[in-house]
Amino acid sequence: MVLVNSNYLKLKAGYLFPEIARRVKAFSLAHPKANLIRLGIGDVTEPLPLVCRDAMKIAIDEMGTESGFHGYGPEQGYLWLREKIAKWDYQERSCQVSADEIFISDGSKCDSSNILDILGEANRIAVTDPVYPVYVDSNVMSGRTGDALDVGQYQGLTYLPINENNNFQAQIPVGAVDLIYLCFPNNPTGAVASKEQLAEWVAYAQKHDALILFDAAYESFIQDESLPHSIYEIDGARNCAIEFRSFSKNAGFTGTRCAFTVIPKTLKGKDNNSNPVELWSLWNRRQSTKFNGVSYIVQRGAEAVYSEQGQLQIKSLVGFYMENAAIIRRSLIGAGFTVYGGEHAPYVWIKVPEGMNSWNFFDFLLEKANVVGTPGSGFGVSGEGYFRLSAFNSRMNVEEAMQRIVNLK
Ligand SMILES: *Cc1c(COP(=O)(O)O)cnc(C)c1O
Repeated sequence: MVLVNSNYLKLKAGYLFPEIARRVKAFSLAHPKANLIRLGIGDVTEPLPLVCRDAMKIAIDEMGTESGFHGYGPEQGYLWLREKIAKWDYQERSCQVSADEIFISDGSKCDSSNILDILGEANRIAVTDPVYPVYVDSNVMSGRTGDALDVGQYQGLTYLPINENNNFQAQIPVGAVDLIYLCFPNNPTGAVASKEQLAEWVAYAQKHDALILFDAAYESFIQDESLPHSIYEIDGARNCAIEFRSFSKNAGFTGTRCAFTVIPKTLKGKDNNSNPVELWSLWNRRQSTKFNGVSYIVQRGAEAVYSEQGQLQIKSLVGFYMENAAIIRRSLIGAGFTVYGGEHAPYVWIKVPEGMNSWNFFDFLLEKANVVGTPGSGFGVSGEGYFRLSAFNSRMNVEEAMQRIVNLK
Protein backbone atom coordinates (compact mmCIF):
# COMPACT_ATOMS: atom_id res chain seq x y z
CA MET A 1 0.00 0.00 0.00
CA VAL A 2 1.05 3.54 -0.58
CA LEU A 3 2.50 5.43 2.34
CA VAL A 4 0.47 8.43 3.48
CA ASN A 5 1.76 11.76 4.76
CA SER A 6 1.74 10.85 8.43
CA ASN A 7 1.78 14.50 9.44
CA TYR A 8 -1.92 14.56 8.60
CA LEU A 9 -2.48 11.97 11.29
CA LYS A 10 -1.28 14.43 13.91
CA LEU A 11 -4.20 16.76 13.18
CA LYS A 12 -6.69 16.81 15.99
CA ALA A 13 -9.71 14.69 15.16
CA GLY A 14 -12.42 16.85 16.70
CA TYR A 15 -11.81 19.80 14.46
CA LEU A 16 -13.92 22.84 15.20
CA PHE A 17 -16.39 23.17 12.34
CA PRO A 18 -17.19 19.46 11.93
CA GLU A 19 -17.89 19.30 15.67
CA ILE A 20 -20.22 22.31 15.41
CA ALA A 21 -21.96 20.67 12.46
CA ARG A 22 -22.34 17.43 14.43
CA ARG A 23 -23.96 19.16 17.41
CA VAL A 24 -26.21 21.30 15.21
CA LYS A 25 -27.33 18.24 13.28
CA ALA A 26 -28.12 16.30 16.44
CA PHE A 27 -30.10 19.25 17.78
CA SER A 28 -32.02 19.71 14.51
CA LEU A 29 -32.94 16.04 14.39
CA ALA A 30 -34.29 16.23 17.92
CA HIS A 31 -36.04 19.58 17.27
CA PRO A 32 -37.06 19.60 13.61
CA LYS A 33 -39.24 22.70 14.06
CA ALA A 34 -36.51 24.87 15.57
CA ASN A 35 -35.63 27.89 13.44
CA LEU A 36 -31.84 28.02 13.78
CA ILE A 37 -29.92 31.23 13.13
CA ARG A 38 -26.29 30.65 12.20
CA LEU A 39 -23.83 33.29 13.34
CA GLY A 40 -20.99 30.80 13.30
CA ILE A 41 -18.86 30.19 10.24
CA GLY A 42 -17.32 33.32 8.72
CA ASP A 43 -18.90 33.32 5.29
CA VAL A 44 -20.49 36.42 3.77
CA THR A 45 -24.20 36.45 2.98
CA GLU A 46 -24.92 39.57 0.90
CA PRO A 47 -24.99 39.46 -2.94
CA LEU A 48 -21.99 40.38 -5.09
CA PRO A 49 -21.66 44.13 -5.82
CA LEU A 50 -23.27 45.24 -9.09
CA VAL A 51 -20.01 46.66 -10.50
CA CYS A 52 -18.35 43.25 -10.11
CA ARG A 53 -21.24 41.37 -11.71
CA ASP A 54 -21.39 43.83 -14.61
CA ALA A 55 -17.64 43.51 -15.22
CA MET A 56 -17.85 39.71 -15.12
CA LYS A 57 -20.77 39.69 -17.59
CA ILE A 58 -18.77 41.80 -20.04
CA ALA A 59 -15.81 39.47 -19.56
CA ILE A 60 -17.96 36.42 -20.27
CA ASP A 61 -19.14 37.95 -23.54
CA GLU A 62 -15.57 38.82 -24.48
CA MET A 63 -14.65 35.20 -23.91
CA GLY A 64 -17.23 34.30 -26.55
CA THR A 65 -15.41 36.24 -29.25
CA GLU A 66 -12.33 35.34 -31.22
CA SER A 67 -10.49 38.53 -30.27
CA GLY A 68 -11.61 38.66 -26.64
CA PHE A 69 -10.99 35.03 -25.74
CA HIS A 70 -8.46 34.43 -22.95
CA GLY A 71 -6.75 31.13 -22.31
CA TYR A 72 -4.12 30.64 -19.63
CA GLY A 73 -3.36 34.02 -18.08
CA PRO A 74 -0.15 35.06 -16.38
CA GLU A 75 0.45 32.94 -13.25
CA GLN A 76 1.03 36.18 -11.33
CA GLY A 77 -2.32 37.62 -12.41
CA TYR A 78 -3.17 40.19 -15.08
CA LEU A 79 -1.09 43.32 -14.91
CA TRP A 80 -4.15 45.61 -15.17
CA LEU A 81 -5.48 44.18 -11.90
CA ARG A 82 -2.11 44.27 -10.15
CA GLU A 83 -1.59 47.88 -11.21
CA LYS A 84 -4.94 48.95 -9.79
CA ILE A 85 -4.24 47.15 -6.50
CA ALA A 86 -0.80 48.77 -6.26
CA LYS A 87 -2.27 52.20 -6.83
CA TRP A 88 -5.55 52.07 -4.88
CA ASP A 89 -4.62 49.80 -1.96
CA TYR A 90 -0.99 50.80 -1.47
CA GLN A 91 0.34 53.90 -3.20
CA GLU A 92 -2.74 55.93 -2.17
CA ARG A 93 -1.92 55.01 1.43
CA SER A 94 1.75 55.93 0.89
CA CYS A 95 2.92 52.30 0.86
CA GLN A 96 5.72 51.52 -1.55
CA VAL A 97 4.26 48.44 -3.22
CA SER A 98 4.54 48.02 -6.97
CA ALA A 99 2.42 45.94 -9.34
CA ASP A 100 5.13 43.35 -9.90
CA GLU A 101 5.27 42.63 -6.17
CA ILE A 102 1.62 41.52 -6.21
CA PHE A 103 0.56 37.93 -6.96
CA ILE A 104 -3.13 37.35 -7.71
CA SER A 105 -4.50 34.08 -6.36
CA ASP A 106 -7.70 32.17 -5.70
CA GLY A 107 -7.60 32.81 -1.97
CA SER A 108 -5.70 33.90 1.10
CA LYS A 109 -6.45 30.60 2.75
CA CYS A 110 -4.44 28.86 0.03
CA ASP A 111 -1.69 31.48 -0.06
CA SER A 112 -1.20 31.59 3.69
CA SER A 113 -0.76 27.80 3.70
CA ASN A 114 1.16 27.47 0.43
CA ILE A 115 3.72 30.05 1.48
CA LEU A 116 5.33 27.32 3.60
CA ASP A 117 6.46 25.72 0.30
CA ILE A 118 9.20 28.32 -0.03
CA LEU A 119 10.25 28.38 3.62
CA GLY A 120 12.63 25.97 5.31
CA GLU A 121 11.53 23.32 7.78
CA ALA A 122 13.81 24.38 10.62
CA ASN A 123 12.17 27.76 11.14
CA ARG A 124 10.85 28.49 14.61
CA ILE A 125 7.22 29.48 14.23
CA ALA A 126 4.99 31.69 16.38
CA VAL A 127 1.22 31.97 16.23
CA THR A 128 -1.21 33.79 18.46
CA ASP A 129 -3.57 31.77 20.62
CA PRO A 130 -6.49 31.90 19.70
CA VAL A 131 -5.70 31.90 15.98
CA TYR A 132 -7.17 31.31 12.50
CA PRO A 133 -6.78 27.49 12.40
CA VAL A 134 -5.34 27.44 8.85
CA TYR A 135 -1.97 28.80 10.03
CA VAL A 136 -1.52 26.02 12.56
CA ASP A 137 -2.91 23.14 10.52
CA SER A 138 -0.83 23.96 7.45
CA ASN A 139 2.27 23.81 9.64
CA VAL A 140 1.16 20.46 11.04
CA MET A 141 0.47 19.04 7.55
CA SER A 142 3.86 20.09 6.27
CA GLY A 143 5.68 18.48 9.19
CA ARG A 144 6.73 21.66 10.92
CA THR A 145 5.35 20.65 14.31
CA GLY A 146 5.56 17.71 16.65
CA ASP A 147 2.56 15.79 17.90
CA ALA A 148 -0.60 17.27 19.35
CA LEU A 149 -0.39 17.75 23.10
CA ASP A 150 -3.26 16.93 25.46
CA VAL A 151 -4.04 20.60 25.97
CA GLY A 152 -4.77 20.99 22.27
CA GLN A 153 -1.55 22.64 21.16
CA TYR A 154 1.21 21.19 19.00
CA GLN A 155 4.73 20.53 20.09
CA GLY A 156 7.30 22.78 18.51
CA LEU A 157 5.08 25.83 17.87
CA THR A 158 5.41 28.98 19.94
CA TYR A 159 1.96 30.11 21.10
CA LEU A 160 1.44 33.75 22.01
CA PRO A 161 -1.68 34.04 24.18
CA ILE A 162 -4.10 36.87 23.47
CA ASN A 163 -6.82 37.63 25.99
CA GLU A 164 -8.48 40.52 27.78
CA ASN A 165 -5.47 40.95 30.09
CA ASN A 166 -3.26 41.97 27.20
CA ASN A 167 -6.08 43.63 25.29
CA PHE A 168 -5.83 40.89 22.64
CA GLN A 169 -2.34 42.06 21.64
CA ALA A 170 0.22 39.27 21.80
CA GLN A 171 3.31 40.01 23.78
CA ILE A 172 6.39 40.21 21.56
CA PRO A 173 8.28 36.89 22.03
CA VAL A 174 11.12 36.97 24.52
CA GLY A 175 13.30 34.57 22.53
CA ALA A 176 13.96 34.52 18.82
CA VAL A 177 11.47 33.05 16.35
CA ASP A 178 11.85 33.07 12.56
CA LEU A 179 8.26 33.21 11.36
CA ILE A 180 5.32 35.06 12.93
CA TYR A 181 1.70 34.96 11.81
CA LEU A 182 -0.27 38.15 12.49
CA CYS A 183 -3.86 38.87 11.51
CA PHE A 184 -5.34 42.37 11.88
CA PRO A 185 -8.23 43.10 12.11
CA ASN A 186 -8.21 39.77 13.86
CA ASN A 187 -10.19 36.67 13.21
CA PRO A 188 -11.49 35.47 15.70
CA THR A 189 -11.17 38.25 18.34
CA GLY A 190 -11.97 41.29 16.20
CA ALA A 191 -8.96 43.11 17.71
CA VAL A 192 -7.02 45.70 15.69
CA ALA A 193 -3.42 46.86 15.93
CA SER A 194 -2.28 50.47 15.97
CA LYS A 195 0.69 51.69 13.94
CA GLU A 196 2.77 51.72 17.10
CA GLN A 197 1.91 48.11 17.87
CA LEU A 198 2.74 46.96 14.35
CA ALA A 199 5.95 48.98 14.49
CA GLU A 200 7.00 46.91 17.52
CA TRP A 201 6.52 43.71 15.51
CA VAL A 202 8.49 45.12 12.61
CA ALA A 203 11.27 46.16 14.99
CA TYR A 204 11.31 42.65 16.47
CA ALA A 205 11.42 41.05 13.01
CA GLN A 206 14.27 43.31 11.97
CA LYS A 207 16.22 42.59 15.13
CA HIS A 208 15.84 38.81 14.79
CA ASP A 209 15.81 38.59 10.98
CA ALA A 210 12.32 37.12 11.26
CA LEU A 211 9.55 37.08 8.67
CA ILE A 212 6.05 38.37 9.46
CA LEU A 213 3.12 36.80 7.58
CA PHE A 214 0.51 39.54 7.78
CA ASP A 215 -3.10 38.59 7.04
CA ALA A 216 -5.12 41.70 6.22
CA ALA A 217 -8.27 39.95 4.96
CA TYR A 218 -10.41 42.29 7.09
CA GLU A 219 -8.64 45.62 6.44
CA SER A 220 -11.73 47.13 4.79
CA PHE A 221 -13.64 46.79 8.07
CA ILE A 222 -11.38 49.33 9.80
CA GLN A 223 -13.46 52.35 10.79
CA ASP A 224 -10.79 54.58 12.33
CA GLU A 225 -8.57 56.21 9.73
CA SER A 226 -5.59 56.36 12.09
CA LEU A 227 -5.35 52.54 12.13
CA PRO A 228 -3.05 50.87 9.59
CA HIS A 229 -4.64 48.85 6.76
CA SER A 230 -1.36 47.36 5.66
CA ILE A 231 1.84 46.26 7.36
CA TYR A 232 3.67 48.30 4.70
CA GLU A 233 2.43 51.47 6.38
CA ILE A 234 5.22 50.71 8.85
CA ASP A 235 8.78 51.71 7.92
CA GLY A 236 10.99 48.70 7.42
CA ALA A 237 8.16 46.24 6.74
CA ARG A 238 9.30 45.81 3.13
CA ASN A 239 12.31 43.96 4.53
CA CYS A 240 10.45 41.64 6.87
CA ALA A 241 6.81 41.08 5.87
CA ILE A 242 4.57 39.32 3.39
CA GLU A 243 0.95 40.52 3.23
CA PHE A 244 -2.14 38.51 2.34
CA ARG A 245 -5.31 40.23 1.11
CA SER A 246 -8.55 38.91 -0.23
CA PHE A 247 -11.68 40.05 -2.06
CA SER A 248 -13.66 37.49 -0.02
CA LYS A 249 -14.83 39.73 2.79
CA ASN A 250 -14.79 43.25 1.32
CA ALA A 251 -16.45 42.34 -1.99
CA GLY A 252 -18.22 39.09 -1.15
CA PHE A 253 -15.91 36.89 -3.27
CA THR A 254 -15.92 33.89 -0.91
CA GLY A 255 -17.61 31.79 -3.59
CA THR A 256 -16.11 33.64 -6.57
CA ARG A 257 -12.48 33.34 -5.38
CA CYS A 258 -9.92 36.10 -5.77
CA ALA A 259 -7.17 37.28 -3.45
CA PHE A 260 -3.58 38.47 -3.62
CA THR A 261 -0.28 38.25 -1.84
CA VAL A 262 2.38 40.94 -1.68
CA ILE A 263 6.03 39.89 -1.62
CA PRO A 264 8.33 42.91 -1.76
CA LYS A 265 11.40 42.44 -3.91
CA THR A 266 13.47 43.69 -1.00
CA LEU A 267 12.47 40.71 1.14
CA LYS A 268 15.17 38.12 1.72
CA GLY A 269 15.59 34.75 3.37
CA LYS A 270 18.81 32.77 3.56
CA ASP A 271 20.02 29.46 2.15
CA ASN A 272 21.81 26.73 4.10
CA ASN A 273 25.08 28.63 3.75
CA SER A 274 23.47 31.83 5.03
CA ASN A 275 23.57 33.47 1.63
CA PRO A 276 20.62 35.84 1.05
CA VAL A 277 17.85 34.63 -1.27
CA GLU A 278 15.03 36.76 -2.71
CA LEU A 279 11.68 35.37 -1.51
CA TRP A 280 9.88 36.99 -4.47
CA SER A 281 11.79 34.76 -6.92
CA LEU A 282 10.96 31.61 -5.00
CA TRP A 283 7.25 32.45 -4.79
CA ASN A 284 7.23 33.39 -8.47
CA ARG A 285 8.79 30.02 -9.24
CA ARG A 286 6.36 28.22 -6.96
CA GLN A 287 3.29 29.87 -8.46
CA SER A 288 4.52 29.40 -12.04
CA THR A 289 4.95 25.68 -11.40
CA LYS A 290 1.97 24.86 -9.20
CA PHE A 291 -0.67 27.46 -10.12
CA ASN A 292 -2.30 28.55 -13.35
CA GLY A 293 -3.90 31.76 -12.24
CA VAL A 294 -7.41 33.00 -11.49
CA SER A 295 -9.94 33.09 -14.31
CA TYR A 296 -9.99 36.17 -16.54
CA ILE A 297 -13.67 36.69 -15.70
CA VAL A 298 -13.09 36.75 -11.96
CA GLN A 299 -10.08 39.05 -12.23
CA ARG A 300 -12.23 41.49 -14.24
CA GLY A 301 -14.80 41.27 -11.45
CA ALA A 302 -12.15 42.06 -8.86
CA GLU A 303 -10.80 44.93 -10.97
CA ALA A 304 -14.22 46.60 -10.84
CA VAL A 305 -13.72 47.16 -7.12
CA TYR A 306 -11.11 49.78 -8.07
CA SER A 307 -13.42 52.43 -9.48
CA GLU A 308 -15.43 55.18 -7.84
CA GLN A 309 -18.61 53.12 -8.07
CA GLY A 310 -16.80 49.99 -6.92
CA GLN A 311 -15.42 51.71 -3.84
CA LEU A 312 -18.88 53.03 -2.95
CA GLN A 313 -20.44 49.61 -3.35
CA ILE A 314 -17.90 47.76 -1.20
CA LYS A 315 -18.13 50.52 1.38
CA SER A 316 -21.85 49.99 1.56
CA LEU A 317 -21.41 46.20 1.78
CA VAL A 318 -18.91 46.48 4.61
CA GLY A 319 -21.11 49.13 6.24
CA PHE A 320 -24.03 46.73 6.23
CA TYR A 321 -22.07 44.07 8.10
CA MET A 322 -20.63 46.65 10.49
CA GLU A 323 -24.14 47.80 11.34
CA ASN A 324 -24.94 44.15 12.14
CA ALA A 325 -21.84 44.04 14.34
CA ALA A 326 -22.98 47.21 16.11
CA ILE A 327 -26.40 45.67 16.75
CA ILE A 328 -24.77 42.54 18.19
CA ARG A 329 -22.47 44.59 20.41
CA ARG A 330 -25.24 46.90 21.62
CA SER A 331 -27.66 44.06 22.35
CA LEU A 332 -25.16 41.92 24.19
CA ILE A 333 -23.73 44.78 26.22
CA GLY A 334 -27.31 45.72 27.10
CA ALA A 335 -27.91 42.15 28.24
CA GLY A 336 -24.91 42.36 30.55
CA PHE A 337 -22.32 40.48 28.50
CA THR A 338 -18.71 41.56 28.25
CA VAL A 339 -17.91 41.90 24.55
CA TYR A 340 -14.82 42.72 22.50
CA GLY A 341 -14.22 43.29 18.81
CA GLY A 342 -16.98 44.13 16.34
CA GLU A 343 -15.82 47.74 15.92
CA HIS A 344 -13.29 47.26 13.10
CA ALA A 345 -14.09 43.66 12.26
CA PRO A 346 -17.18 41.57 11.49
CA TYR A 347 -16.58 39.43 14.59
CA VAL A 348 -17.78 40.02 18.12
CA TRP A 349 -15.79 38.16 20.78
CA ILE A 350 -17.89 37.49 23.83
CA LYS A 351 -16.77 36.48 27.29
CA VAL A 352 -18.92 33.51 28.28
CA PRO A 353 -20.91 33.83 31.52
CA GLU A 354 -19.29 32.73 34.81
CA GLY A 355 -19.43 29.01 35.37
CA MET A 356 -19.56 28.05 31.70
CA ASN A 357 -16.88 27.13 29.22
CA SER A 358 -16.99 27.87 25.49
CA TRP A 359 -18.74 24.61 24.53
CA ASN A 360 -21.25 24.90 27.41
CA PHE A 361 -22.18 28.32 26.10
CA PHE A 362 -22.42 26.94 22.56
CA ASP A 363 -24.90 24.30 23.73
CA PHE A 364 -26.76 26.84 25.87
CA LEU A 365 -27.28 29.26 22.95
CA LEU A 366 -28.16 26.42 20.59
CA GLU A 367 -30.75 24.93 22.94
CA LYS A 368 -32.23 28.04 24.53
CA ALA A 369 -32.00 30.59 21.68
CA ASN A 370 -31.51 28.35 18.66
CA VAL A 371 -28.51 30.50 17.74
CA VAL A 372 -25.30 28.92 16.45
CA GLY A 373 -21.99 30.61 17.19
CA THR A 374 -18.39 29.46 17.43
CA PRO A 375 -16.75 28.36 20.70
CA GLY A 376 -13.58 30.36 21.33
CA SER A 377 -11.73 27.25 22.50
CA GLY A 378 -11.93 25.95 18.92
CA PHE A 379 -9.41 28.64 17.93
CA GLY A 380 -6.91 27.70 20.62
CA VAL A 381 -6.46 26.97 24.29
CA SER A 382 -6.52 30.66 25.20
CA GLY A 383 -9.84 31.06 23.41
CA GLU A 384 -11.45 29.03 26.20
CA GLY A 385 -14.01 31.13 28.00
CA TYR A 386 -14.83 33.15 24.87
CA PHE A 387 -17.31 32.81 22.05
CA ARG A 388 -17.37 34.28 18.53
CA LEU A 389 -20.45 35.69 16.82
CA SER A 390 -20.20 36.75 13.22
CA ALA A 391 -21.93 39.77 11.69
CA PHE A 392 -22.24 38.00 8.34
CA ASN A 393 -25.99 37.51 8.12
CA SER A 394 -29.20 39.28 7.12
CA ARG A 395 -30.39 42.18 9.28
CA MET A 396 -33.52 40.22 10.09
CA ASN A 397 -31.58 37.21 11.35
CA VAL A 398 -29.18 39.31 13.39
CA GLU A 399 -32.02 41.24 15.02
CA GLU A 400 -33.99 38.07 15.70
CA ALA A 401 -30.93 36.29 17.14
CA MET A 402 -30.21 39.24 19.43
CA GLN A 403 -33.81 39.45 20.55
CA ARG A 404 -33.71 35.79 21.52
CA ILE A 405 -30.44 36.14 23.45
CA VAL A 406 -31.60 39.29 25.24
CA ASN A 407 -34.82 37.50 26.24
CA LEU A 408 -32.81 34.71 27.88
CA LYS A 409 -31.52 37.07 30.54
C1 LIG B 1 -11.86 34.80 5.43
C2 LIG B 1 -10.43 34.86 5.76
C3 LIG B 1 -9.46 34.91 4.76
C4 LIG B 1 -9.83 34.90 3.30
O1 LIG B 1 -9.63 33.66 2.75
P1 LIG B 1 -9.95 33.41 1.23
O2 LIG B 1 -9.29 32.10 0.95
O3 LIG B 1 -9.32 34.53 0.45
O4 LIG B 1 -11.44 33.35 1.06
C5 LIG B 1 -8.13 35.01 5.13
N1 LIG B 1 -7.76 35.05 6.42
C6 LIG B 1 -8.66 35.01 7.41
C7 LIG B 1 -8.20 35.09 8.81
C8 LIG B 1 -10.02 34.89 7.11
O5 LIG B 1 -10.91 34.83 8.10
